[in-house]
Amino acid sequence: MCQDAIIIGAGVIGNSIATELSRSGWRTLNVDKLKGAGQGSTGYSSGICRTMYSLLDSVKFAWEGFTYFENWEEHIGVQDPHGFAHLRRCGALVLRSEASQQFLDRVIASHDAVGLPYEYWEASDIATRMHFDLQSYGPQVRIDDDTFGEPKGKEIGGGVFFPMAGYVSDPMLAARNLQTASEATGRSDYLFGETVTAIRRESGRVAGISCASGLELDSPVVINVAGPHSAQVTKLAFLDPAENDMAIHTKPMRQEVAYVNPPPGVSWDEDGPGLICTDLDIGVYFRPEVGGKILVGSVEPQCDEAFHIFPDDPEAVYPGRELAALTDQWTNQVYRLALRMPSLHLPDSQSAQGCSACYDVTEDWVPIYDKSSLPGFYMAIGTSGNQFKNAGVVGRLMRELIEATEGGQDTDKKPLDFQLQRIPCGGSISSTTFSRKRQRLQTSGSVLG
Ligand SMILES: Cc1cc2nc3c(=O)[nH]c(=O)nc-3n(C[C@H](O)[C@H](O)[C@H](O)COP(=O)(O)OP(=O)(O)OC[C@H]3O[C@@H](n4cnc5c(N)ncnc54)[C@H](O)[C@@H]3O)c2cc1C
Repeated sequence: MCQDAIIIGAGVIGNSIATELSRSGWRTLNVDKLKGAGQGSTGYSSGICRTMYSLLDSVKFAWEGFTYFENWEEHIGVQDPHGFAHLRRCGALVLRSEASQQFLDRVIASHDAVGLPYEYWEASDIATRMHFDLQSYGPQVRIDDDTFGEPKGKEIGGGVFFPMAGYVSDPMLAARNLQTASEATGRSDYLFGETVTAIRRESGRVAGISCASGLELDSPVVINVAGPHSAQVTKLAFLDPAENDMAIHTKPMRQEVAYVNPPPGVSWDEDGPGLICTDLDIGVYFRPEVGGKILVGSVEPQCDEAFHIFPDDPEAVYPGRELAALTDQWTNQVYRLALRMPSLHLPDSQSAQGCSACYDVTEDWVPIYDKSSLPGFYMAIGTSGNQFKNAGVVGRLMRELIEATEGGQDTDKKPLDFQLQRIPCGGSISSTTFSRKRQRLQTSGSVLG
């Protein structure tokens, strides 16, 4: 097959770009070193879809992205024998504490600006409904600190509930659905188990890729959607780093996610009261997980810096590899949840459940969706642990950006005015928000974006 665009990566975002481009008439080829769609970082995603971000543009973008998962089967548009990924819309609660005040102020201002709903919940209602201990324990410390678990003499001041939130509990299936959608166009192909080792140039622009097997494939457009491997792929495109004009960079960051049983007598299953909860006071987020469990992730409290590993090789976290095993990060996350849920049973090391995986982080935790200084080479990278939810809308943004650029528009000088077509407030976002050349943006500095 002769392709108009090669997409490096077949995660949820690589597949979404393939869907959009192939629906628009492009012949695409996704190349992935793994054996199937979504088996990279997508497969480990917590799949939370929420609109709470620090930046107004990110709020609008996430709302637009949410509508794709709300209408997933319609978006996929064809039957998929694998079944369909499902968004469970349970809403998200952000607990009010000193640690969350600044973030919440910005989120609420943005939600007011675009007309997104939210509700204030009283602390007493939260305690009754969620069985939470609402003492404040922040600023958070690690469990090896003698003061861990000592209340700070303050109470959590209730919470803010955002109904436009939920989670997709099988993110890998979402990627597979998008593969089905793009293949249904008859213009989209996939090459699995093949590693891209070089990006070839001809006459000052991209000419194609070379693979580990010796295979050479030609294409005038190559898109880096390599997730936590994105920095490696960027290096393939710019053997001379001086030619690369990126002001924002990406690197893999190791993370752990825990799965625990809820406290006895408290149901967190699909039909129970479980919702997504962001608790900056104890430094974790959590949500219901299939099998009646609770999934617990980190919101990167400052005291955890020692846990943050940025491996040269993101595959070091893959099962059986040197950074795969659960560590003290897992233990800290679970003990922190136990501060909020005092009757939580703490699993011992034999029954610990969880996973390790890598985010692909930027300096400001905002992704890069852009062209590059090498004509024909594009990037959808730096997704910073928070872009699963945007997979649908990123596909369209990248298609419009690529079509504008290949059509002669210099989007550095005349940025794309990306129209929000699916949300009531409408309007647009400038592609400069996700530019590789942007100044570092003021965000939460964490996975919350
Ligand atoms: C633990 C965890 C929790 C998360 N939770 C959330 C959440 O709750 N909500 C949210 O919105 N987002 C979340 N995210 C982020 C979200 O999952 C990612 O932003 C998204 O899945 C990235 O998709 P992708 O397609 O860009 O990358 P990936 O899924 O990583 O796909 C990249 C693919 O590129 C392939 N590849 C790399 N290099 C090469 C090469 N040289 N040759 C061939 N193939 C190559 C890899 O094998 C991989 O399959 C989370 C991420 C993690 C890790």
